[in-house]
This record gives sequence, structure tokens and C-alpha cells, in this order.
Amino acid sequence: MIYPESRLRQSSGSKAATQHKAELFITMSNTSSSKFADEHWMRLAMTFALQAESQGEVPVGALLVLENQVIGEGWNQPIGLNDPSAHAEIMALRSGAQAVKNYRLVDSTLYVTLEPCVMCVGAIIHARVARVVIGAADPKSGAAGSAFDLLNGNKFNHKVDITNGILAKDCGDLLKAFFEKRRQVARMQFTKSGEGG
Ligand SMILES: [Zn+2]
Repeated sequence: MIYPESRLRQSSGSKAATQHKAELFITMSNTSSSKFADEHWMRLAMTFALQAESQGEVPVGALLVLENQVIGEGWNQPIGLNDPSAHAEIMALRSGAQAVKNYRLVDSTLYVTLEPCVMCVGAIIHARVARVVIGAADPKSGAAGSAFDLLNGNKFNHKVDITNGILAKDCGDLLKAFFEKRRQVARMQFTKSGEGG
């Protein structure tokens, strides 16, 4: 199966993310489905999380891999797109489905830097994704075992394999730094408004 590389290039994020991605593709040539490969793809997903951050969105990134090729990529952008469903996972699934011209993404693996929410788990099941690889856990709204446990067991006809905790600290640190920065800005604005009387 041939995937439209030009489309993938066009939809790539920042120049830095594209460059980083190119390096990852070069070093990815002979890896199998292993922890090494998972970390490799997760690092690429992290570059998409940074793309989200550069657009003022919460830094979550995702990508979809089929037969060792990236077929879909996404980053969180509900604010910019005025779209509550524009989570990184949904964007990656949309992009992958367009690439293979099929709404079923059978045998694909979704890499995401933060545990998917209820909505994204629903989309993952509808898309028949085979495996989900997760970076950081999301104790507040994660639906792959943290706040809700929707992917485990026999709740749905479609079974999804889950791998947790791939580069969990790095993925979580992106979010921590983002929210810390946001709190600092809020504090500065509060102080300024206080000075103004
Ligand atoms: Zn979600």
C-alpha cells in the first residue's frame, strides 16, 4: 500500500517538527515493534505536542502508524479550530483515514502523548485501531484506565491493545511546563491589575 507522502509533508507542523520528523524517519528504517520503536514514535508525537503548544493549545500530540509508516498526525487544536472534537487523537485519525481512504484503520497503532479521553476512546474503537500507545496518564479524564476504564475488558466488540507509560515523564513534563507557564502569566496579570489599583 502506498501512502501519499506529499500530503503528509504538507500537513506537517512547524519547520522544526518537520526536520525532527525527517531525522526520525531515517533512524526508524530497521526497527521492529518494540519498546525502542514505541519510544521512537512517541518522540515524534511529542514534536506534534510542541506544535500544539506553539499555537497556544494544551500540548498533546498523536500519530498513527501502519506497517511502520506514519499515515496520520495530529495535535490538540480545539481553540484554534473552534472545534471541541479537535483533540490530537481525533486529528490523527482523520488524517490517517484520509491517507488510506478508509474510515476503518485496521491494524494501525495510535501513539498519543496523553491518555485519551472518553470521546477519543470512542473514536479509536469506531476506527478499529489495533493498538494504542500512551505517554503520560491522565488521572482526571483518561479513559484508558485512569479516570475511566473503557479500553480494557470486553465492553466493546473491538479489542484494543494498550501500552502505557512510553516516555511518560517526558510527555507529562511538556504538560506540566505548559500549565506552570500559564499560571505564571496569570499571576503576572493579577499583580499588574493590583498595581493599577
Ligand atoms: Zn480526547
